[in-house]
Amino acid sequence: MANRSSVIDCYVGLGSNLDQPVQQIERALAELNNLANTDCVAVSSLYHSQPMGPADQPDFVNAVARLATTCSALELLQQLLALENAHGRQRQPQQQNGPRTLDLDLLIYGDQCIDEPGLTVPHPGLRQRDFVVLPLLEISPDIDVPGFGRLAVWREKSLNHGAKRGNPPSWQ
Ligand code: AMP
Repeated sequence: MANRSSVIDCYVGLGSNLDQPVQQIERALAELNNLANTDCVAVSSLYHSQPMGPADQPDFVNAVARLATTCSALELLQQLLALENAHGRQRQPQQQNGPRTLDLDLLIYGDQCIDEPGLTVPHPGLRQRDFVVLPLLEISPDIDVPGFGRLAVWREKSLNHGAKRGNPPSWQ
């Protein structure tokens, strides 16, 4: 990474429940590490959780990656959306939280709170989703969520999708 002085510590949530979800997540982790001006510096275990949207869809595989980046939040988001598309993500506007090959959410971007069209950071659903809270705490137990404070206090309040910790990803 060129200019170390402007490196931002950020967190991305990954989820998949279609077309070999574990492989989708493993591939996405390698791709995140290969993004320009971005390194993947830590990865949680793979978590298995129940769907948040319609129940008639497969369970999800989730993980959280910690990245060091010199990209702006918007640049990073655009790269995440491009990766989702490269994984064949189909968006069905009439169905929220439906099945997906790959979902990438920018959870935390440094200590910034951003609320602009197309980008809200910290991610609004972060504290209410066990499949985000548990992997985030696994890799950063003392993390503070900008604007909210210590994430650890949400551990018990967010046990809502039966997220179960599984194997570490083979990508490292
Ligand atoms: P979804 O893939 O269903 O999670 O939603 C993606 C949409 O949410 C995109 O149009 C993004 O512009 C928007 N969005 C807003 N904030 C975020 C964020 N922090 N991470 C990912 N997508 C976001």
